[in-house]
Amino acid sequence: MALVGRHVSVAGGLEKSFERAKEIGCNAMQIFVTNPRSWAIGKIDSGVAEAFRKNAHYTGITAIAHMPYLPNIGSSDPSARSKSKESLKGNAEACGILGIENLVTHMGSHMGKGKERGISNVIDAVESALKPGLKTRILLENEAGHKNSIGDEIRDLYEVRDSVKGKLLGFCLDTCHLFAAGYDITSHKALDRIFSEIDMNDVFAIHLNDAKMELGSRRDRHANIGKGHIGIEGFRSFLNYEGISEKIIVLETPASTEIGEAEEIALVRGLFS
Ligand SMILES: [Zn+2]
Ligand SMILES: [Zn+2]
Repeated sequence: MALVGRHVSVAGGLEKSFERAKEIGCNAMQIFVTNPRSWAIGKIDSGVAEAFRKNAHYTGITAIAHMPYLPNIGSSDPSARSKSKESLKGNAEACGILGIENLVTHMGSHMGKGKERGISNVIDAVESALKPGLKTRILLENEAGHKNSIGDEIRDLYEVRDSVKGKLLGFCLDTCHLFAAGYDITSHKALDRIFSEIDMNDVFAIHLNDAKMELGSRRDRHANIGKGHIGIEGFRSFLNYEGISEKIIVLETPASTEIGEAEEIALVRGLFS
């Protein structure tokens, strides 16, 4: 069965997230392993780590982690840079302690210093986080293409990927961000074009989100599956494209009165043929 889930809360303790995911029919989930609104990287308590690993084992749920909101690994500002590098390193270490194999990070913003400089900052941050012995892979997430962003073009991802060859580095593709950045993912033909640029073996996770705005809007506004411009048939094409069903698929869609979380997971499962 395909690994499908959503981003879930860790309120009450990291190990509590499994119950929440299970309740809504997930066999995959995404969590924050450190406070998403803070720079602080607390030590993972050994009891928590043990409970987390135990729950992962008993529920059979595959967990991935997402970096907190504040870090910007593409920044050239010395203070923001060093804090962001520490955060990436700390989150990767926390994942290692919890047995989480994949950590998603944005490439961030170059803050007007130019993409080339931003990308070299990303390479430096990733290199310093990927220390020998680390078992957690870092996944670069593609961006919607807001001002100064890095990662809205597939070649940005490969500039980093190619500079850190052989290391634990891959991609997390966000469908809303691809669409907003101008990559049509709604037909087999369009997907052939995209995956002539992306090696499917470099993709480990998918953020499955519909797009509130039209193709190429450069705006990051998630919609519930089937309620945006990608649409049900668009997702049907995408999910059945060769190789996608083997990836860890995680929804980051808004809370909705029209569709419950469990219902949305079931809807996605029903789109695989
Ligand atoms: Zn993200
Ligand atoms: Zn987004």
